[in-house]
Amino acid sequence: MKYVIVIPDGAADEAQASLGGKTPLEAARIPHMDSIARRGILGWADNVPPSLTAASDVATLSLFGYDPMRYYTGRAPLEARAMGINLGPEDFAVRCNLVHAPGDVMADFTAGHIGNEEGAALIATLQEKLGGKRIVQGDSGPVEVVLEFHPGVSYRNLMIVRGGALAGKPAALDSTTKTQAPHDVPDQPTGPHLPKGTGGAWLTQLMEESKKLFAGHPANEGRVARGKKAATQCWLWGQGRVPSLDSFEMMHGLKGAIISAVDLVRGVGQLIGWKRVDVAGATGYLDTDYAAKGRQAIECLKDHDLVCVHVEAPDEASHEGRADAKVRAIEEIDAHIVGPLLKALEGMGEYRILVEPDHRTLIRTKAHTHGPVPFALAGAGIAPPANPPAGYHEAGVPADFVVQTGHQLLGAWMIRR
Ligand SMILES: [Zn+2]
Repeated sequence: MKYVIVIPDGAADEAQASLGGKTPLEAARIPHMDSIARRGILGWADNVPPSLTAASDVATLSLFGYDPMRYYTGRAPLEARAMGINLGPEDFAVRCNLVHAPGDVMADFTAGHIGNEEGAALIATLQEKLGGKRIVQGDSGPVEVVLEFHPGVSYRNLMIVRGGALAGKPAALDSTTKTQAPHDVPDQPTGPHLPKGTGGAWLTQLMEESKKLFAGHPANEGRVARGKKAATQCWLWGQGRVPSLDSFEMMHGLKGAIISAVDLVRGVGQLIGWKRVDVAGATGYLDTDYAAKGRQAIECLKDHDLVCVHVEAPDEASHEGRADAKVRAIEEIDAHIVGPLLKALEGMGEYRILVEPDHRTLIRTKAHTHGPVPFALAGAGIAPPANPPAGYHEAGVPADFVVQTGHQLLGAWMIRR
């Protein structure tokens, strides 16, 4: 049996006036996803426990069958894995966004989707001026840590805090440390959202220092000269220590592969032992090469039992509040990924395919939100419903069919059923 998971990130949404009262999934022309819903199971899955933040890190763990209440330690350590950064048990990884927040308003958490080279130049300055040994105020006194700043993709970079949780020493960060995902406070003043709890003061101090370092930075001056948004500061959040995740192959006896342009999602895949397959032209944005991802997924199925294709584009469109772009992204996924995969799977014997967004991202708020997402699952041994739904979208899902703990869907419904 071959297994395929397709994740249209953040695709689940509300009905939109601009789409004639339809949700983006409902308005999109998605014949292949519709066919999966019509010949299989269409239901709701809740991937984000109420006590955790609605985001791809928590939701992806659920989607891959891991209970986030048990395994989730933070976003940044998942990304660190994908970036090849090793974390010791005493280390913390912290997400270091490059953001555009003029006048301390979170105007753009991506700093205009800053390019990798410009981003890396700014991160290099942080490393030069703020990296290395530093004494910070921990939970019960000063603690010496070593800070490292690592460039990632675009605005998504990392700060590593070495020695932040040495046994017998004050902790630089701990479970009381509260930080705010910048994409969830669009256009809001940053003041009320600064880090709090253990380490809140020194994290805030670093962010303040970054403002001075970034003002007039050559990378920013170049951006402004080209009419682009400057990265006015770094924003620190998503901290955590490395989680220990059981191997997917040990749990299910299946060899997996992950195709994603987003370090966070790749990192979760790699931490559970899936092979990370990079696709040239995959950008993590609306301009991603959908067809290249589809082709690569089919290629991967030849020597893997399970292939997961994740596409960030619908989420990015939602964060920009663009309903038309969201619809288009969903249609591209259907035409260039789900369609070709279904065709290829027909020639590979028995298979099952699951289409499921990780979480909801609302165009109305430009932010992620809690609540179940619609999933469609079809394939060998799954009988078509007596009354097939019109297609794959929120309005067609029976209200009473909710997998409340989303992490059980993969094991109990997709693999073992
Ligand atoms: Zn997501």
